[in-house]
Amino acid sequence: MAIQKKLSLMIPGPTPVPERVLEALSRHPIGHRSKEFQDIVESTTNNLKWLHQTSNDVLTITGSGTAAMEAGIISTLSKGDTIICGENGKFGERWVKVAQSFGLKVITIKSEWGKALNPNEFKNVLENDYQKKIKAVILTHSETSTGVINDLETISSYIKNHKQALSIVDCVTSIGACNVPTDDWGLDIVASGSQKGYMIPPGLSFVSVSKKAWEACENSDLPKFYLNLNSYRKSLKSNSNPYTPAVNLFFALDEALKMMREEGLENIFRRHNKHKLAISSAMKALNLKLFADENFLSPSVTSIKTENFDAETFRKLIKDKYDILLAGGQDNLKGKIFRIGHLGYVNDKDIISVISAVGLTLIQESKISVEALGEALKKAQIILNQ
Ligand SMILES: *Cc1c(COP(=O)(O)O)cnc(C)c1O
Repeated sequence: MAIQKKLSLMIPGPTPVPERVLEALSRHPIGHRSKEFQDIVESTTNNLKWLHQTSNDVLTITGSGTAAMEAGIISTLSKGDTIICGENGKFGERWVKVAQSFGLKVITIKSEWGKALNPNEFKNVLENDYQKKIKAVILTHSETSTGVINDLETISSYIKNHKQALSIVDCVTSIGACNVPTDDWGLDIVASGSQKGYMIPPGLSFVSVSKKAWEACENSDLPKFYLNLNSYRKSLKSNSNPYTPAVNLFFALDEALKMMREEGLENIFRRHNKHKLAISSAMKALNLKLFADENFLSPSVTSIKTENFDAETFRKLIKDKYDILLAGGQDNLKGKIFRIGHLGYVNDKDIISVISAVGLTLIQESKISVEALGEALKKAQIILNQ
């Protein structure tokens, strides 16, 4: 047990928070109807649009990522609407449940956990919908529960061809980690949350809304109040919020977005991609197998199989000895995989540390040789130096 607690969060949310952001967060709150607060909202809104690569409205809701997705769904759809839901993990499953709770008719397109969704299945269902009954396609870009990234670019091109259906996309662990060009791909609703790529604590979520989605909002009749996007849109015209927002999280958001602009989108994406490749190749060198299809690895989380040992015990060893928190598997994956989050405020040092901690624990448990760890670090180093 480490004497000094200096926990490294290497889970896919909440993610580590930079010192600059923590300082911003610790300011005394200000009135949310003040000019000072409006200036902050103006600044965060502009930077959110930059991050989303869009000229659409990007709204901020006080609530977690699920609130943003729910807001997108209930603000645009109506009772009895038919929708498609892509489901290849825990989050895909959640959006099916949300849609069903609001009485929507859900066509699920599934893929085995660990595999990517097949874009052709979306194409077929959409192309055969001659009566244009399908009002939306809901899907998860980076499926955090399995570490798979779905081919959003291709699937969204089929949604665009359908013309009627809106795309409602969970980009919670892809925004701020890899390229999500909202306007180029014609994404209608893009949802994300503060505790992921944004490098701030949990509590805020974001929804980008296209012109087509606003048109759908006019006719939507699902019950809603707090999460009615129309209210947020109206308030945003005066750089305001319909209800009392988490004021201090806005200070943090403003600072974090400024840091992201300083780094630049290309550099952010490159860093996440390098970390993903370094971790996946190092894990293989440690004689571990990846859970997700290697052609579709998420930029923000890597899932690793533990075939001949219990993942939960392994995570506890790493936590107790090295103060690094890894995520476990969910549902039937519990005990069978562990997940390394490498999203947001993560640098090469974190990557080297987590590979070392995993390797040293495997050595201690007599599962690999010392040479295997040397090889894993060498592989990671080559990628990190590129
Ligand atoms: C974290 C996460 C969410 C949001 O979950 P909340 O707990 O509501 O913030 C949604 N989708 C994915 C893929 C996530 O990783």
